[in-house]
Amino acid sequence: MDASRISSDPDASPPPRDDPKDGIDKLRASIWATARSRADLTQALLSAAPLLRSHMVTSGDLQVELAWLGVSIRPIVMGSHVRGYCEPARAVRTVYVNGSDGPELRRYTAVHEIGHLLLVPPPGRPRVLSREGEESLCEAFASEVLVPRELVRSRIDTLTWGPEELLRLCGELSVNVTPALISAGQLMRDSTEVLVYSRRRGHPKRPDVEDFRFDSSSGAAHVYFPGDQRLSSAGLTRLAAAAEGAVHNESFAGSDEPVRVELRGLDSAKSSKVLSGPVSWRAHRVGREHPFVVALLQLDKVGL
Ligand SMILES: [Zn+2]
Repeated sequence: MDASRISSDPDASPPPRDDPKDGIDKLRASIWATARSRADLTQALLSAAPLLRSHMVTSGDLQVELAWLGVSIRPIVMGSHVRGYCEPARAVRTVYVNGSDGPELRRYTAVHEIGHLLLVPPPGRPRVLSREGEESLCEAFASEVLVPRELVRSRIDTLTWGPEELLRLCGELSVNVTPALISAGQLMRDSTEVLVYSRRRGHPKRPDVEDFRFDSSSGAAHVYFPGDQRLSSAGLTRLAAAAEGAVHNESFAGSDEPVRVELRGLDSAKSSKVLSGPVSWRAHRVGREHPFVVALLQLDKVGL
């Protein structure tokens, strides 16, 4: 793949299907060619998303869709807290995904891991991202690839936007919640709103302690809800209780006070700044035995 073909133009024509099998190395070289800073690298990686998307809209078979990259995707047995991993140093590039996950989640994991492969610096070049920064960029990359921004923007502009609309969009696009939530959070107009995805599950180190915990959040750019933390530990006690008491496919609304809101530092890392105040929310529960909720938090009274 010629480096000059990377484009942020979503209408760019798809590349030919008989590309060589070292596509990932060429793509990585072109991404790093102009990247001198964290901002450059972020821009360059996200600009490659439409190219990946152009390969991913037809087949539905991940292995076929990503063959041009020379990356093989292997579902294997792994722990329930692990979504996948890759081996960037190996000549034969393999992305391993959790075989127990559904097809949407496996697809998201594979694209996230391809983000990691593309972020390996070429020989002699230093890393420019922190670990948290790289994770967050790979999440954003997977979201850019799988969720067309124009579609999300049009929904937000024309609907009373909330958890139900987000979940409907996930169904239409056959994507898991996280990439749609990242995209919607970035495009929402109100800078004091945050979308939260929370599953009832154990902590990775305390698997028996099941509760609704943060999985991902997106919206007000400087807000940080630590993954794995319980909603109730952040002060969202009534939201956690309502989520517990709701049935499958039920919507509910309410408020909590005080809610502890941590602020994000440089490069997506946690900062030491914390605000607190009243938070109102609308939420929707999905699932019976392993439920999750999507909630839209209104943080305008927290003092953002
Ligand atoms: Zn990762």
